[in-house]
Amino acid sequence: MEKQPQLDAAQQPSATGDMNPESFRHYGHQVVDWIADYLGDVGKYPVLSQNSPGAIRSALPAHPPAQPEAMEAILADVDHIVLPGITHWNSPGFMAYFSITGSGPGILGEMLCSALNVNAMLWRTSPAATELEQVTLDWLRQMLGLPHPLFGVINDTASSGVLYALAAAREAIPDLHIRQKGLSGRAEVPRLRFYTSQDAHSSVDKAGIVLGIGQEGLRKIGTDSEFRMDVLELERAIQEDIAAGWRPFAVTATVGTTSTSSIDPVPQIADICERYALWLHVDGSYGGMAAIDPDMRWVLGGCERADSLIVNPHKWLFTPLDCSAFYTRKPDVVKAAFSLIPEFLRNAESLGDEAPNLMDYGNALGRRFRALKLWMIMRYFGQEGLAARIHEHIHLAQLLVQWINEAPDFELMAPTPFSLVCFRAHPRGIAGEAQLEALNERLMNQINTGGRFFLSHTRVHGKFTIRVAIGNLRTTEQDIRVLWTEIQAHLAPEMETA
Ligand SMILES: *Cc1c(COP(=O)(O)O)cnc(C)c1O
Repeated sequence: MEKQPQLDAAQQPSATGDMNPESFRHYGHQVVDWIADYLGDVGKYPVLSQNSPGAIRSALPAHPPAQPEAMEAILADVDHIVLPGITHWNSPGFMAYFSITGSGPGILGEMLCSALNVNAMLWRTSPAATELEQVTLDWLRQMLGLPHPLFGVINDTASSGVLYALAAAREAIPDLHIRQKGLSGRAEVPRLRFYTSQDAHSSVDKAGIVLGIGQEGLRKIGTDSEFRMDVLELERAIQEDIAAGWRPFAVTATVGTTSTSSIDPVPQIADICERYALWLHVDGSYGGMAAIDPDMRWVLGGCERADSLIVNPHKWLFTPLDCSAFYTRKPDVVKAAFSLIPEFLRNAESLGDEAPNLMDYGNALGRRFRALKLWMIMRYFGQEGLAARIHEHIHLAQLLVQWINEAPDFELMAPTPFSLVCFRAHPRGIAGEAQLEALNERLMNQINTGGRFFLSHTRVHGKFTIRVAIGNLRTTEQDIRVLWTEIQAHLAPEMETA
């Protein structure tokens, strides 16, 4: 007879408590060993999950387990059912979208975070969670070269952060009292408008939708030859809108756009925002983090004048999802937009600046202790270690750029200020755009099917463009060499048939 996996004491029919500490220790060691092996071997898995749709669902029972199941059986299913359905973001070959890393110290921080399981809504609901959040974000501020004072708070995502920034910007419009009175059914409220470049992230559009500004309330500004917001067009648009009765209230600029990692001219945009009294939000979710590298400090030039700024440790600071740093020079305005304290949460400490209640700076009441993992990462690598790693990713991207520039059958499609390379194959003798489009899409799909790498694409001037995003701590120069060899190898047969 097959040996049945053993149930714990806590799984016996009469038990009503949690897994006991000894069982936790036993399975905890198993899980930590599993994680260590996984991180060591992650490059051996196909990066992009090769599952077909529905594979996981059909492998799982339709109904929940009525009786306890042994941990052995659960962990075995993680291996056999869950793992094949994982796209390995932690793989050195993951270069799609923006590449990220759940680093060792960050993963350990997450483990402690869930063990402590504190809710950092009020200072008193865990002083350490609130104060560590303030300290780590002040350290990060210093690493980025941003001036003091700057209030920081950690959100789940930049998408939440931009929503909060624009809610604050809306709150800052004098005389409209939108928080109290809302937007609809009020003849005295002009139509509101904010501005961003055509290359800004979709979370900016979504924030406008959620806030009742509407998609028409977001005016997209064109970009120059390097995909940066055209500031002359921005100012013209604002003037036009004012003349037509709109009420401009904010601009969001991007340092490191998602498509090509272009950098909007923040100092000039800040001038315009000052001239027209508009809230300036800067989205540095990916690119802003580069400022930790002293050679890259310049990328946040002008951001000291922003009303709010976001950089994402979960994007390019090796922090497991989720952790997005939101900075503002105007915490009082953000608080005015969001603070709403029900009686049961009122307490004596909720007054001072020394002990802010972080639930007052956004929509979420419950807040994870996200600062713990970030604090552990900062201490484990140190500022110089973090800078060296970001510097290396930029260096690897520049290597690939050099090879592309030297290869007659490839072309760069955008500048490479960070570690994102945008290029396409353009073999001699193939001039038709439709043909180039099909060829590059095929090339990317072949790479992705190969399993060692996962790349994604964008469109640059309407042209299909392959993106190689370098940002995982496990990615080495050797990986980039192998990728380049694979790309060239896949192009060769195309050239023969051309
Ligand atoms: C990734 C990214 C975002 C979205 O970040 P989330 O934290 O996933 O919401 C926003 N803006 C830019 C420029 C990004 O690269």
